[in-house]
Amino acid sequence: MPRGNTPRQPSRSGRHEGARRQSRPLTKTLPGRSMAVAGVQKKRSAKAASKKKSGSYDPLAPERVRAIIEGLDRMYPGVTCALTHKNAWELVVATILSAQCTDVRVNMVTPGLFEKYPTVQHFAALEPEQLEPDIRSTGFFRNKSKSVVGAARKVVADFGGNVPQTMHELLTLPGVARKTANVVLGTWFKQNEGVVVDTHVTRISRRLELTKHDDPQKIEQDLMQTIPRERWTDFSHEVIWHGRKLCVARSPKCADCSIEKLCHAADKTWSTVEIHKNAKP
Ligand code: SF4
Repeated sequence: MPRGNTPRQPSRSGRHEGARRQSRPLTKTLPGRSMAVAGVQKKRSAKAASKKKSGSYDPLAPERVRAIIEGLDRMYPGVTCALTHKNAWELVVATILSAQCTDVRVNMVTPGLFEKYPTVQHFAALEPEQLEPDIRSTGFFRNKSKSVVGAARKVVADFGGNVPQTMHELLTLPGVARKTANVVLGTWFKQNEGVVVDTHVTRISRRLELTKHDDPQKIEQDLMQTIPRERWTDFSHEVIWHGRKLCVARSPKCADCSIEKLCHAADKTWSTVEIHKNAKP
């Protein structure tokens, strides 16, 4: 088949089919230039080439990170938390229920749940066993029931029925770890105290080489050092949406991804750039 008729194929080598490298001389020798000037130029060129070679690709370079953020902004303008909620307490409950469960499933359960138990005081008055049947379909329902009822009792007893607005206080609620606290602080209270690290953020941060870690706390620390603070919450939401829509765990839809050129993940399904073996999900 003539080359021009061959459909474009994903390339795991990272090269376009038919793409040719062009090598340019680093310096242009001009006639009449003195040996001394030529020597200095040669030294400078060698130095620049060596610097370029050693620092040619930095996955954490500010301009690369900025380009990733801009690409996510373009793909997911104005996205927010996918868990439906009407107040901070409902968001706490929904986030606890979302552990090991899809947001779609949680959103199927919570409307009926909040109709049945409209306030935090209603939840605080329950025994965990009473809540179990209502949240069974979200999985791990025994532990989640204990967490939700325990958190409700703490909110009522220690915070006057209002969900606290600081990381330190939120972490005192049973079942609330940094992920839930970051969701509540960022989404409801509009405070950028941290980056939400869930399964999507973990996978995509690794694919984009923004972290090499597996541990959510270490990933969050890496992201907090790389992503500008004012973007922490938006970045979390956008990456989570990206993980649902395109950058899925198996066979990500790289051909449709706006930041494909910035991504060197080993498991890309389409690539126009070099693939790095270390950039794994
Ligand atoms: S190019 Fe593919 S693997 Fe990389 S971020 Fe986009 S969808 Fe994910």
